[in-house]
Amino acid sequence: MSLSQKVLNEALSLRDFIVNARREFHMYPELAFQEKRTSEKVAEVLEKLGFQVRRNVGKTGVVGLLVRNPNRPTVALRADMDALPLQELKETPYKSKVPGVMHACGHDAHTAMLLGAAVVLFRLKDYINGNVKLIFQPAEEVGQGAPEMIKDGVLEDPPVSAIFGLHVWSYLSSGVVGVREGPLLAATGEIELKVKGKGGHGAHPEQTIDPVVVSAYLVTAYQTIVSRNISALDSGVVTISSIKAGEAFNVIPEEAFLKGTYRALTFEVKNLIKKRLQELTDNICRAFNSECSLKLTDSTPPTINHPLTTKIAYEAVSELVGKEKVLTPTPSMGGEDFAYYLEKVPGTFIILGTGNKDKETDKPHHNPYFDVDEDVLPIGSAIYAYTAIKALEKL
Ligand SMILES: [Zn+2]
Ligand SMILES: [Zn+2]
Repeated sequence: MSLSQKVLNEALSLRDFIVNARREFHMYPELAFQEKRTSEKVAEVLEKLGFQVRRNVGKTGVVGLLVRNPNRPTVALRADMDALPLQELKETPYKSKVPGVMHACGHDAHTAMLLGAAVVLFRLKDYINGNVKLIFQPAEEVGQGAPEMIKDGVLEDPPVSAIFGLHVWSYLSSGVVGVREGPLLAATGEIELKVKGKGGHGAHPEQTIDPVVVSAYLVTAYQTIVSRNISALDSGVVTISSIKAGEAFNVIPEEAFLKGTYRALTFEVKNLIKKRLQELTDNICRAFNSECSLKLTDSTPPTINHPLTTKIAYEAVSELVGKEKVLTPTPSMGGEDFAYYLEKVPGTFIILGTGNKDKETDKPHHNPYFDVDEDVLPIGSAIYAYTAIKALEKL
């Protein structure tokens, strides 16, 4: 029997364990940096298996290390653990028991799949030519968990040579896997803008500087960044998602406040967007005699999959599920803090389809009816485990 088949069989034999773990995490979701219960359960399982366990890495993260050969490289596998501030609406036996908090992105599934992979790796440890580090990361949804864990040395001692992450994906059919070399997810950033005008009576606009009108011009001008400054062959997003100004129908307010996001798949396009946001803001505000203060804060870097690790992941996944179920996904303008690891070490972020219309698991991520197809979970565990084993063969 091939090793990929062995890994798959072990993972499938763990179906109940993985599904039960996922349901437990789903019923007791925890927000960013509050993943206490989740981390404790993770640490307990890893310790029982005989992994070296480090708790409280990056505040509430857990790291498990399986050393098979200290003179060989270490490959890291990462799962995120945090939930979202959202009231779950789908009725299931495992519906969230915490009001207003829900696993609506599938991080419960990631944690459970990586725990499953831990068991598989332990059972097949004779095939591991090196060391495997399992990273259970907090606070992905706020983009801060990965940098916190890196700060706490998660990529050191022993140093990590390659890293792999996995995300369930409801937009892809169940069991289909997406592996893409190069940019997969976007660099993201936040826009905060204060437009200072001069308030007054709605009947006498000539005595005021109307921040609402200035804001309207700004929002319109920002649309030209993507349409007129970025090449049609590149990708970028500028979204103003919030405008707040004024209360009354006859009062021109003093100030307006705008918020939004900018996104791009490369550093070059991201920097171009920021430059144009600043220039348009400065010049339009000056034209209307208003004072504006624009704050642009970079969030996650772009998630760019390394050619070598992506080739390894592609081969591993193809052996597990068959080439016909592996596709090259279109990049998404969503962001992922896995990108911070990729700034430090080569790695690949893999997406795993869990969308099944009959099981109603095809709802968008971050939707109150979001759910995952649990039949896919053992495949996720197998992908984690086998990719690590394959990577250690090649590194
Ligand atoms: Zn999410
Ligand atoms: Zn997510």
